[in-house]
Amino acid sequence: MSQYLLKDVSVVGGAPTDVLINDGVIAEIGAGLNAGEATVIDGSGTIALPGLVDLHTHLRQPGKEEAETVLSGSRAAAAGGFTSVHAMANTNPVADTAGVVEQVWRLGNEAGLVDVRPVGAVTRGLEGSALAELGAMADSVAQVRVFSDDGKCVHDPVIMRRALEYVKAFDGVIAQHAQEPKLTEDSQMNEGIISGQLGLRGWPAVAEEAIIARDVLLADHVGARLHICHLSTAGSVEIIRWAKSRGIKVTAEVTPHHLILTDELVTSYNPVFKVNPPLRTQADVEAVREGLADGTIDIVATDHAPHPSQDKDCEWVAAAFGMTGLETALQVVHTTMVKTGLINWQQVADRMSYAPANIGRVTTQGQAIAVGAPANITLFNPNTEVVITAEQSVSASRNTPFAGMKLAGSVQATFFNGRPTVLDGKLV
Ligand SMILES: [Zn+2]
Repeated sequence: MSQYLLKDVSVVGGAPTDVLINDGVIAEIGAGLNAGEATVIDGSGTIALPGLVDLHTHLRQPGKEEAETVLSGSRAAAAGGFTSVHAMANTNPVADTAGVVEQVWRLGNEAGLVDVRPVGAVTRGLEGSALAELGAMADSVAQVRVFSDDGKCVHDPVIMRRALEYVKAFDGVIAQHAQEPKLTEDSQMNEGIISGQLGLRGWPAVAEEAIIARDVLLADHVGARLHICHLSTAGSVEIIRWAKSRGIKVTAEVTPHHLILTDELVTSYNPVFKVNPPLRTQADVEAVREGLADGTIDIVATDHAPHPSQDKDCEWVAAAFGMTGLETALQVVHTTMVKTGLINWQQVADRMSYAPANIGRVTTQGQAIAVGAPANITLFNPNTEVVITAEQSVSASRNTPFAGMKLAGSVQATFFNGRPTVLDGKLV
């Protein structure tokens, strides 16, 4: 039996108290608890949050293990305070059958650092033309509830309609990567003043917004759940706000990088800033922050997209899209949303734990820190300032866009089902 006493922690922003973990479960909460046999963790000054849940992670296994594996990605997740991640389906082979999602699920269990939930592909081979084995993946041991062709848009409206109809039967959700393909052929960065100056092919906001507008109407028509991945424009926020006001069952995510970085960084031509959807303008950053604060955007999801150096250390046009994000997500949210007074710690717990678990229908995660709940807890010290370096990353890849930037706060400890995966800011 393992016991831990988290001493003087602020539970989701409340007054300092103690939390006793006994055999994987939160056994007691209160000031001045007796340690007894328990290992004491000094948590003074830290915020205790429910273990973070990511709805959008690329773990790259099977097929691109030099970028990340389920194990290395699980390590990065734990280091960032996560206790659960959803592994996207654009692997090789694609996670479009029960066999592949069960393989990913098993690898997650073997790694044992976070709860790994495989996302199933919507269409066979992500090719957009025929539905994947949605029912078989839902019925598999992985119990898939989130389906996405992420990396590609489900652009055929008939396929999208059929997918929404299909997953409705088992309360699944289609997570759409909203990118109209014709409007973004060979696009390299946000379409605007800077793309014009740099001579790079633009990626108009309307390419995202047109798909979101279409799909909220389809979701309304079918009465099924729709989730929008990595929403990045002010116009997208407006469409989601309208859809929610109509009672349409849509949820949306924003990435940490879209909360803080803008397309001005592309003037460096450093491919670390190349990402899909692209970094947008300061006005878009303000709009997504406001949307996250008022609940129009439900969650923060990392879109952690590791790439080996040969795919990023090259000229802009040849480089792969994507950034890592698991290890820095909470720091970015703290810096951009909490320190600015836009949201409080209760809302951080909601946007990064309760709500993503609920969208993914993960019942064992995203629970409030309360007696009897599984001990999935993150201790975050908000009083530090950290200069991010790529070298300190525990991901197998180094493509963090935050290298050299100062972010506020750091993850001190992560407990996954009562067991520490991170202590003193380091992996156990
Ligand atoms: Zn995507």
